[in-house]
Amino acid sequence: MSREFTPQEGSCSCYSNTYTINNQPIGRFICHCTICQEFTGQAYNDVTILLKPDVSSLNLIRTKFRRWKLPPNISRGLCTRCNKPSIEMALGGNLILIPTTNYPDVAALPKPTMHLFYNRRTSDIEDDLPKYNGFVQSQAMILKALAQGMYKKRVSKR
Ligand SMILES: [Zn+2]
Repeated sequence: MSREFTPQEGSCSCYSNTYTINNQPIGRFICHCTICQEFTGQAYNDVTILLKPDVSSLNLIRTKFRRWKLPPNISRGLCTRCNKPSIEMALGGNLILIPTTNYPDVAALPKPTMHLFYNRRTSDIEDDLPKYNGFVQSQAMILKALAQGMYKKRVSKR
């Protein structure tokens, strides 16, 4: 994506944890897995994926990280004050996941491209996005979307 991205200051719902998002996310999807439901306290997690260098000025002193069993290697941070999502880290912190609720300007973000773990949905979603079920299929589609996102990013920087 060649569109300019105006940096945004992201935060949990009470602004105790903050960070600066400097670049367009490389992916955005809607995850219906039960862990995301528990983590967000909502029906699903509408979440963006960013590369580590694209998020700076991390102030996470009120974030408590916890690992759920699945999906592997995602460390999910909840705010110790508002108990809402702060930030999520994957691949040893090289990928950063930020729920769209934590952006001040969601309209500037790319649109979500798919639903994951749709079999775990709490209610049907009426949209035209592809819907994937289960761990194997969902994980495969995440990896594909990330590869495409990184490829687009490289191309746009040339
Ligand atoms: Zn908070």
